[in-house]
Order: sequence, then C-alpha cells, then structure tokens
Amino acid sequence: MSIPFLDLKAPYAELRDELDAAYRRVMDSGWFLLGPELEAFEDEFARYCGARHCVAVGSGCDALELSLRALGIGPGDEVLVPSHTFIATWLAVTETGARPVPVEPDEHTATMDPALVRAAITPRTKAIVPVHLYGHPADLDPITAVAREHGLAILEDAAQAHGAGYRGRRIGSGTGTATAFSFYPGKNLGAMGDGGAVVTDDAELAESLRLLRNYGSREKYRHEVPATNSRLDELQAAFLRVKLARLDEWNDRRRAVAARYLTGLAGTPGLRLPAVADWADPVWHLFVVRADHRDEARSAFATRGIGTLAHYPVAVHRSEAYTGLGDFWHLPIADRLAGEVLSLPIGPHMSDDDVDAVIAAAREVFAAEKEPAR
Ligand SMILES: *Cc1c(COP(=O)(O)O)cnc(C)c1O
Repeated sequence: MSIPFLDLKAPYAELRDELDAAYRRVMDSGWFLLGPELEAFEDEFARYCGARHCVAVGSGCDALELSLRALGIGPGDEVLVPSHTFIATWLAVTETGARPVPVEPDEHTATMDPALVRAAITPRTKAIVPVHLYGHPADLDPITAVAREHGLAILEDAAQAHGAGYRGRRIGSGTGTATAFSFYPGKNLGAMGDGGAVVTDDAELAESLRLLRNYGSREKYRHEVPATNSRLDELQAAFLRVKLARLDEWNDRRRAVAARYLTGLAGTPGLRLPAVADWADPVWHLFVVRADHRDEARSAFATRGIGTLAHYPVAVHRSEAYTGLGDFWHLPIADRLAGEVLSLPIGPHMSDDDVDAVIAAAREVFAAEKEPAR
C-alpha cells in the first residue's frame, strides 16, 4: 500500500482535456502576459470571492508583500503576524523593511488569538495579518474591532483558504482590507507553477497593486512609482480558470475526507484532532493532528507506506532567517505546535478506502507508540 501525502497528478488526470485545451488556446494566441486570460481569471476569481477587484501576481509571497507596499507599509512600521504560520507571512513583512510582531495562536484553532492582539499594538503598528491556517479561518470579528479602534489595515493571508467561510461570509468578500491568495500547485486552487492574487473592495488599493506588479507602469514606458515585475502569466491564468470551476466541488470532497477522519480517528490515544470553531467553514487545505511523539509517528506512518508532513516543524522565530530578530521572543505556543503538528494526507482525489487505510494505520501507530511510555 502507498498513499502519498499529496497527489498532484490526479487533478491533471481528471481535467486533462480542459487543461490541454487551455494550453493550446494560449499557445495559439501568441499572447503570454497581461492578456485576456488574466483579465477573465481576475473577473472570475473576484466574483468567486465576492470582492470588487482582483489583481493577480506572481506568487502568494508577492500577493502579501505587494499588498503591504500598496498599504504604504515600510521601514519603521510594525505588522502583527501569527507566531504559528508558514514563514512567507513574515517574509512578506520583512521584505518591505517593516518589522513582524508575532501574536500567539489560540490553542484550539491554531490561528491568531484575538485576545492577544491589543497588547501587541504599539504606535508603530500599521497592519494586522491574520492567517487562515490549514484552511480554517482566523476569528476576524474581534481582530477587526481592535484594528478599527487603532486605524489599522487587515491583510488576510488566505493562501490556504480559497473558498473558506467566516460567519456565513466567504473569505475575501470584504472580510479584510485586502485578502492575499497563493496558487502554488499544492494549494486548494493550484496553478502549474507559481501564482498569487489579491482581492479587495478598495479600488485605489487595487490600482496601486496593478502598478506595483508591472514596473510601476500603466502605460508603456511611463513609470509612476519604483516597483517590481510580478504578473500571473496567461498560461497559469488559463489553467486556473479551469480549476476554479472545480474549486467548490473539490473543497466539498476535502470536507468529506476531513469528516471521515474526525469520525474514524475519534478517541485514538496519543492523538489530538483539529477543532472547528463555530464561526468557521474550513476548506481543509491540511488535516493537522497533534501528537506528543510526532517524529516517531511520522516514521511509523512511513513504514506503512503513508506520507505525512509537519506544518511547520520549525517555529518561524527559530528560523535561521530570523536569527537575531527573534532571539528574545518568548513564544511557547508556537514552539509547542512546531513539535506536535502532524499533517495526514488530504485532497479531493483521495478515495474513502485511502482515508480508511490512513485511519487504520493511525490506530496502529498510536497504539504501538503508547507502549514504551507505560
Ligand atoms: C503558500 C503560503 C504562502 C506563500 O505563497 P507562495 O505562492 O508559495 O509564495 C503564504 N502564506 C501561507 C500561509 C502559505 O501557506
């Protein structure tokens, strides 16, 4: 038996004809950047999210960084970020020259704890970046309330949460000032390479982003601001249009896999299941359990042919990239999560039999693991 952590061939197998047609359409057009596919994708993704504007860029990292720049954030500013997230959330901040200020997560949802936000704000704070980690929305209402009080922008990192819902609203439908997405191949909506997008209801912000992604230029050879080059190309836009039409169906399948895990794994000793908050309609980018002996458990799954990962095994402030910056931070929850998180295989193309095989293996892995402790 072999169940990979992630199967990136299955989506192509299902959509081969449509993706091949999209490829040929773009190749035959001879138009590869800033063309009709990009425009159509931006319209379709804005509509999907329930936002007025969508600006598609080269990656999720760029979607975050350019949004911060468009919000006027740079050296001397502080931005609140979760202590427990993928490092890209922090990198986007440090690339602008601003300083990331970590906020510890709520223990149950692993997303930014709203109760800790206020204490992290200083006169230099300009924005808050809640991350809808693993596809589970952060608790936006109390975070937004504090942001309003202090005149701060909210930039949502929805790189793992395409289609997720917060209190009946879709993430990106004006839930924050702007919402950044990644189309990295393994994400719920994934391209055949890198890609990202920002959605917002703010027309001025969208216009700034259009400048920032294209050499600061609206008109050829007129450059209004210093900027970079970060554009979603026509091929990726055409592929993403095909896959966007399947996103809801594939998210539903992820929900079904997660529900099967939650039932099948209930009561397994040594394994704590992910919580779903009452405000959240998660899209299960990852199915993350917690285990005291995570690394041993990963090896035991591997010997049974089951691929697992840890998201993420090193807390961001412990990363080499932030040596010096984070040395004095005391972030015990981030540290503990980094040691405990264990991601089981999940995806829209997993069969019920695959899920049941992972459940059966988990029961063995954790039963065996308990023995030495007795
Ligand atoms: C994937 C991811 C990003 C970065 O997106 P890229 O497209 O890989 O640059 C940012 N934040 C989070 C939470 C992510 O999971």
